[in-house]
Amino acid sequence: MNRFFIYILSLSLFTSQFICGQENLQEGPFNQLIIRGVTLINGNGAPPRGPIDIVVENNIITKVQVVGYPGVKIDADKRPKLKPGGKELDCNGMYLLPGFIDMHGHIGGEAQGADYDYVFKLWMAHGVTTVREPSGRGLHWTLDLKTKSEKNAIIAPRVFAYTGFGQGSANPISTPEQAREWVRSNAKKGADGIKFFGAPPEIMAAALDENKKLGLKSACHHAQMDVARWNVLHSARAGLTSMEHWYGLPEALFEDRTVQDYPLNYNYQNEQHRFENAGKLWEQAAKPYSKHWNAVMDELIALDFTLDPTFNIYEASRDLQRARRAEWHETYTLPSLWEFYKPSKVSHGSYWHNWGTEQEVAWKKNYNLWMTFINEYKNRGGRVTTGSDSGFIYQLYGFAYVRELELLREAGFHPLEVIRSATLNGAEALGMEDKIGTVAVGKLADLVVVDENPLENLKVLYGTGAIKLTDDNEIIRAGGIKYTIKDGIIYDAKALLKSVKDMVDKEKQKLNYTIKQPGMD
Ligand SMILES: [Zn+2]
Repeated sequence: MNRFFIYILSLSLFTSQFICGQENLQEGPFNQLIIRGVTLINGNGAPPRGPIDIVVENNIITKVQVVGYPGVKIDADKRPKLKPGGKELDCNGMYLLPGFIDMHGHIGGEAQGADYDYVFKLWMAHGVTTVREPSGRGLHWTLDLKTKSEKNAIIAPRVFAYTGFGQGSANPISTPEQAREWVRSNAKKGADGIKFFGAPPEIMAAALDENKKLGLKSACHHAQMDVARWNVLHSARAGLTSMEHWYGLPEALFEDRTVQDYPLNYNYQNEQHRFENAGKLWEQAAKPYSKHWNAVMDELIALDFTLDPTFNIYEASRDLQRARRAEWHETYTLPSLWEFYKPSKVSHGSYWHNWGTEQEVAWKKNYNLWMTFINEYKNRGGRVTTGSDSGFIYQLYGFAYVRELELLREAGFHPLEVIRSATLNGAEALGMEDKIGTVAVGKLADLVVVDENPLENLKVLYGTGAIKLTDDNEIIRAGGIKYTIKDGIIYDAKALLKSVKDMVDKEKQKLNYTIKQPGMD
């Protein structure tokens, strides 16, 4: 029997058992939920195994039981028994993974007009059950959503709030003592950590020291304005727990200079200057596998430092057409987001003032050197996580997360290493590995179910699925996540996407808006 037929069969078995709940989007939690017959792709680097039945009670995994062998009829007597009032989910032939963790997710940018409901549904439709917000509209706003998510009062991933350093402070922080004070008050307010953008060395040192004493985590985008005196290595030594993107890393790898080779007419406020020259940065760093390159890498790994590369958010730099023509924009991108992405001297990351072949070629080389570092970091035991940074540079929430998985693959990760990066590594970086990150007894029921094997083709995780030609010469879309389960609640991923499409359609009707390419309208 060919795979497509199995796929259709399992689909029809499934729909008959799935009774949709509130708004047709979710169902549960249940006293007992048994997910039957899956192939488990766990987040710990183990190879796939199945058939397996998974038992969830309320929101805790209580059993992960192997129930047979591929191609052999399962003995029903040897399977976990359904209790009265329990729910059975027949996922025969499907793949089950731990819920994904997006380590760099800005919730609902104001400038982008993307509200939390839109953003959360796109993430959940792509299996993202946990998100770390590296500064957003303010701690109070984020903590409110975090609480609602904890109670499952809204459709949302788990939220970890990392406040932008200095956010909410009446005056700019200009002394180490003020930095310490802000860090203490941030912890007291209930934040999970801090997101830095760089600061003078004495401020960074004080803030990181105080934060570490309090046991909170931290992230930093080492922005160009402070990186000459304080790069990734300074941060890691001072107690930063994770770096975002890549800025500050080539600077730590400099051997024959102390500042980036800026053109003399450079202006940081000019986004084309900023991103065009960033594309020439990696080639100014120590060569891969050189003595200095090795020493920096080994020291970062010894400090248990996490790298959160967010490859996808820069991809338009090496292939603008790919990013702006992505097939999901027409259906799922809000008009306000599309407007934000347009070439602009004001919108952050809309640096297409004059972006051509030269810029793209430079960025392709930049990627090669960057990916070489990230892959080797992983090979030597360093922790690499998966973060998306969506809402900028033509990258759409959820879809861009899957693109990030593909780019980790391109960097050299085995697909199982990609999944580990998306799950257990994120959990470890958040200090949550006892609760999420793998499918294991005692952990929370955050799970992803897809009816195609994502190891063979990560594209089956896109909401729009993967293109396939069947044996009957029919063009189909295979996959698209089927169920995202969070806290034992089953969300119909395709219904979530439909709900996003409706939001976008409504907005377009209201504005009489059509998505057009820049300069074509
Ligand atoms: Zn960001």
